[in-house]
Amino acid sequence: MNNNKNGLLFVISGPSGAGKGTVVNELLKTEELELSISATTRKPRPEDRDGINYFFMDEEKFKGMIENDQFFEYAMFGGNYYGTPKQYVLDRLSEGKDVILEIEVQGALQVKSAVPEAVLIFVMPQTLTELGSRLKGRATESAEQIEKRMERAAEEVEYISAYDYIVINDKVDDTVEKLKAIISSERAKAINNRNIIKKFKGEI
Ligand code: ADP
Ligand code: 5GP
Repeated sequence: MNNNKNGLLFVISGPSGAGKGTVVNELLKTEELELSISATTRKPRPEDRDGINYFFMDEEKFKGMIENDQFFEYAMFGGNYYGTPKQYVLDRLSEGKDVILEIEVQGALQVKSAVPEAVLIFVMPQTLTELGSRLKGRATESAEQIEKRMERAAEEVEYISAYDYIVINDKVDDTVEKLKAIISSERAKAINNRNIIKKFKGEI
């Protein structure tokens, strides 16, 4: 919770295999953040649980949600749709809760144009070779899909300048500390604490 009327919106993105899921999972153990659960048309992996990792759905349902303007942002990635359900994010932000999205680059750019004050954080490994090793080590995609994700990674890096922060995910613990530092700084910004100033002045 911050002392502003609306919560802050954090967006973590970066290449598939960078370690976003891993570090966000760690971050949520100690930080007060509401994680948005995305909708996707991708098939669940063995460890995936519906409603926890994603809301899994077919293309017809996803397209219905697009038509009904139910997405905050959405994108096609690796032949599947992924999107952030709008209402959950807006409700949490209006309750003054800070929200975190873990999404790919096209979606992050859509968020930035809709909400310029959103904090965009790009997480990447030290090298493309390391990214390849992580994707192979995770072993959740075929060799062909890994190849596509690697190609996509090289394209995604071109968009880094649209981001507010870059974090190299070398050691998980260090990455989590860096993310916490960014979150604390954003929460401490004067512009994000106007109500404290108003209270001090007796205006509210
Ligand atoms: P993403 O969510 O960005 O696609 P994951 O969190 O699934 O990435 O991580 C990809 C793989 O890399 C996983 O097998 C994960 O355990 C591993 N991994 C994540 N962070 C690191 C790290 N800092 N060092 C080494 N391996 C990592
Ligand atoms: P995966 O199939 O590995 O779970 O996810 C593939 C990519 O889709 C990842 O980069 C992940 O961050 C991204 N992603 C997950 N949810 C969303 C979402 O709601 N919107 C967008 N634009 N990307 C998402």
